[in-house]
Amino acid sequence: MPSTPEFQQTLGKPVGFTGTALHTGEKVTLKLHPAPVDHGIKFKRKDLQDEPTIDAKIENLKTVERATTIGEGSVRVHTVEHVLAALCAMGVDNAIVEMDTNEPPIGDGSAQAYVELIRKASVVAQEEARKFFDVRDTMHVESKTGTLLVLLPDTKFRISCTQAGPNNKFTQFLSIDVTPSAFEREIAPARTFVYYEDVKPLMDKNLIKGGSLENAIVVRGEAVLSKEPLRFPDEFVRHKILDIIGDLALVGRRIRGHVVAVKPGHASNADLARLVAREQTRRSAIAVTRPIPSGDGGLDTDQVMQILPHRFPFLMVDRIISFDTETKCVGVKTVTINEPFFQGHFPGHPVMPGVMQVEAMAQVASILLFKLAKTTSRIGYFMSADEVKFRKPVLPGDTIFIHAELIKSRGERLAKAKCHCVVNDAIVSEAELMFTFLDK
Ligand SMILES: [Zn+2]
Repeated sequence: MPSTPEFQQTLGKPVGFTGTALHTGEKVTLKLHPAPVDHGIKFKRKDLQDEPTIDAKIENLKTVERATTIGEGSVRVHTVEHVLAALCAMGVDNAIVEMDTNEPPIGDGSAQAYVELIRKASVVAQEEARKFFDVRDTMHVESKTGTLLVLLPDTKFRISCTQAGPNNKFTQFLSIDVTPSAFEREIAPARTFVYYEDVKPLMDKNLIKGGSLENAIVVRGEAVLSKEPLRFPDEFVRHKILDIIGDLALVGRRIRGHVVAVKPGHASNADLARLVAREQTRRSAIAVTRPIPSGDGGLDTDQVMQILPHRFPFLMVDRIISFDTETKCVGVKTVTINEPFFQGHFPGHPVMPGVMQVEAMAQVASILLFKLAKTTSRIGYFMSADEVKFRKPVLPGDTIFIHAELIKSRGERLAKAKCHCVVNDAIVSEAELMFTFLDK
């Protein structure tokens, strides 16, 4: 089974603060509310009739000029990327972002105010595993302006970013693992920066009423203007990473992959988010449901392999010899000297590793669970193993009878199984295993 899942998280309590909206210059109050599992992040317009909500999803993306705007119907929310980056990086999966206008407070142009708010609310675990997007093959988006975003397989969410200004001035590079503590320390304080030539026409048209040197760094030629000195020598690339995190949050799943970004911007970030979302849709469509053979008899190897995704050398069940009841069954595994683990465990003294016995118990227990749920469109994740005891060594030539009994199941998502392995009528190992189930 894959490693322990992470749980979805929400906020411990509602929190809020008041500030200035960048584009309108209006006063805005933003509140973050806890939300149930699988809710995701939604924005709520408290100021409008019926208080409509907008899903923070890439299909609701409207515009990407200078900031990211999402909308549904005629309702819009502008500049969502900083609050989304903070929620995503601090590990909040489910929340309502409530506002009384069409834009969050700009704060100091960074995500620091949001991190503080989330800290104040605290982040709490929920009883449902997180949904991930695991990058399997390299994906990329490219634009005519020289922007390149590559997404590579990785066990963690990482970003390596190169930022370059006009004529390659202010070229900066940073690579970081996106964890809550790294985000809080290295990324959240980095402020928005703008080029004077870009904002001058907007200022003239009065389109950024709330903009000032208190909430943005302005670059004019060689000069870097801001009320407060630079917080990092490479503050610009850090803010670029902040925006990537915020824009990719629109995928709606946690990405396990390495983003390599060259001169990124909101448009290309959104393109990558769209590409990931499309791939996820494709994967969900092909995760077909296979029926489980029913009846009281056992399962042969073929049938076992139709249920379990495991293959050599990780398939630890040869056959299921019987189902006693719906919640109880016995599997069998013949251990031969050809098992790959005997090569290293230990040469000259081959003993089957205890963890492989636990794995065998987990596989037999998950056959029970799949049979109960009547579907294999889910993956069982191992959450804990308690009361594990290894009583006798298992040697080449032994036949292990793996007994599993479901002793508790909560909904369709959590289950506990009591298992033991028997060789020559003696218990050689036992464990209580807890699982959770995730859609593939
Ligand atoms: Zn930004």
